[in-house]
Amino acid sequence: MSKSRYNRVVLKLSGEALAGEAGFGIHPPIIKSVAEQIKELSDLGVEVAVVVGGGNIWRGKIGSEMGMDRASADYMGMLATVMNSLALQDSLENAGVETRVQTSIEMRQVAEPYIRRKAIRHLEKKRVVIFAAGTGNPYFSTDTTAALRAAEIEAEVILMAKNNVDGVYSADPKVDSEAVKYDELSFLDVLKDGLAVMDSTASSLCMDNDIPLIVFSIMENGNIKRAALGEPIGTVVRGKK
Ligand code: UDP
Repeated sequence: MSKSRYNRVVLKLSGEALAGEAGFGIHPPIIKSVAEQIKELSDLGVEVAVVVGGGNIWRGKIGSEMGMDRASADYMGMLATVMNSLALQDSLENAGVETRVQTSIEMRQVAEPYIRRKAIRHLEKKRVVIFAAGTGNPYFSTDTTAALRAAEIEAEVILMAKNNVDGVYSADPKVDSEAVKYDELSFLDVLKDGLAVMDSTASSLCMDNDIPLIVFSIMENGNIKRAALGEPIGTVVRGKK
């Protein structure tokens, strides 16, 4: 069996990665294929923590642009991530992967509360842990959640699976035909050039805590495992320069 380069990873899935072509809602066949890819990773013996976004259901920014109170709109976004997390848990368990959902907003009937030490214990027992409800705070994103949880559980890398792009480009490749894909760059480059990788809070958290990030496409089957095996896919972001 091939050996993973990492023992413990955080996998960041955007909400849209669960939505299929429609771009919104939850599409069970897509979640099933994502769950199978996570199982492949877990079967390598890698400890996998997943942070799921909510953009396929609701984004706080959209609500606030429509006149809603930003904090309330953001709480709605966090609740959206809980729905996605439960759907992913269901698919993972159907695939035979033991999974726990931990939520940053307490809802005891639905999921465990986020307790760092307990999350680590689950990971050591090779259970996949899904972190739901973002950081539990408005004005943050699930990218920042991935960076924060990765630092807390001492994950060695963040695997950022994208559904609409296969790495980091100098410009939007769908708009600019001259856009070039980077193999490797630093968080400082991302911040300085305003590259659309993750928001600046998340980028600086990764930079300050020395957490590398691999950005790749989830649309190609097996890519999550390839990223963990250290195969050169997508873009690696690390360090200050
Ligand atoms: N959110 C938040 N605090 C957090 C994480 C998420 O307020 O710590 C809200 C925010 O409104 C965000 C929404 O939840 O728009 C969904 O998360 P995100 O946009 O990061 O999802 P993704 O783009 O990854 O699907």
